[in-house]
Amino acid sequence: MDLSYEAESPLAPPVELLEQLAHYDWPFQDGGQSQSSLPATSFRKLSDQRGRPIFLQHRCCYGNRAAGELVIQDLRQQMLYRYRLETFSESRLSEWTFQPYTNHSVDGPTKGASPKPWDIKVHIPPMFQEETKKFQVPHSSLVKDCHKCQGRGRYKCSGCHGAGTMRCASCSGAKRKAKQSRRCQVCSGSGRKRCSTCSGRGNKTCAICKGEKKLLHFIQLVITWKNSLFEFVTEHHMNFPEELLGKVRGENIFKDENVMVYPIIDFPKQEISLASQRGIAEHSNALAGRSRVLQQRQTIELIPLTEVHYWYHGKTYVYYIYGLENKVYALDYPERYCCGCTII
Ligand SMILES: [Zn+2]
Ligand SMILES: [Zn+2]
Ligand SMILES: [Zn+2]
Repeated sequence: MDLSYEAESPLAPPVELLEQLAHYDWPFQDGGQSQSSLPATSFRKLSDQRGRPIFLQHRCCYGNRAAGELVIQDLRQQMLYRYRLETFSESRLSEWTFQPYTNHSVDGPTKGASPKPWDIKVHIPPMFQEETKKFQVPHSSLVKDCHKCQGRGRYKCSGCHGAGTMRCASCSGAKRKAKQSRRCQVCSGSGRKRCSTCSGRGNKTCAICKGEKKLLHFIQLVITWKNSLFEFVTEHHMNFPEELLGKVRGENIFKDENVMVYPIIDFPKQEISLASQRGIAEHSNALAGRSRVLQQRQTIELIPLTEVHYWYHGKTYVYYIYGLENKVYALDYPERYCCGCTII
């Protein structure tokens, strides 16, 4: 490729510049072929019209430095397929719990039998929105004396054993310090000081019943709505970290949403069909017996990934442009400066 950028006086291509380059409308005309190179003409057109002003805009970043030249040598574009399966499920767990009893009516077993966890009707949140809610199971309540304070509402302070005062830590209760005739200033010579745990009262309000003396025990139903995600991206054979591909948007080419989806079997890329079968099997194994599946959604997206090779000051460098957002990833940027400061 013969395209060259002749900036006025760049010392090195600054990050902003490469990011600006990345925001061009890359001519992805191949409609999703697995690998292709961009035609040199279309790229030149874009950079002649739009590349140069961007260089000028960023003059401050490489102002009056020695003249240099950046040459784009090669662009390799791939369209990757991303398969995603989301399974929205609900799980229910019941457990005994208690709260301070404050004289309200008690919905106990005398009012009927408690319904089973899955028989309780609740309002379901919007699909694929995770949430946890707690409910009191009907007719499961009973009132008991508080086990912490034995129904007294208060208990003896553990800091001072009910005395309200503690031995002075400064003089160890001797009222004066060792080898000093003056009385201890911390306790004013009393040898004791007010207990900080109970503020001198000698007892504390029971933290369990909050002083109410009785507790209301009941069965609590905890419902968790969870969204499980299975993701697979086709191989790219480039020196590019795969995990970055999970964080960008792709062009949606297939979407299937239902109470339960079926594995894709006839997609032209066999890896995608296999991923769909694997994902659905994994989710159904993981959730079986413990959760109820409410909704599933599977999608296939195309994610552009372009490898850019460029030559600068006698060296070749590589960077990548990926996702519909045209994000930039570079392994080996050359040293660079911006208005005298190093860009990290
Ligand atoms: Zn105390
Ligand atoms: Zn003292
Ligand atoms: Zn208590």
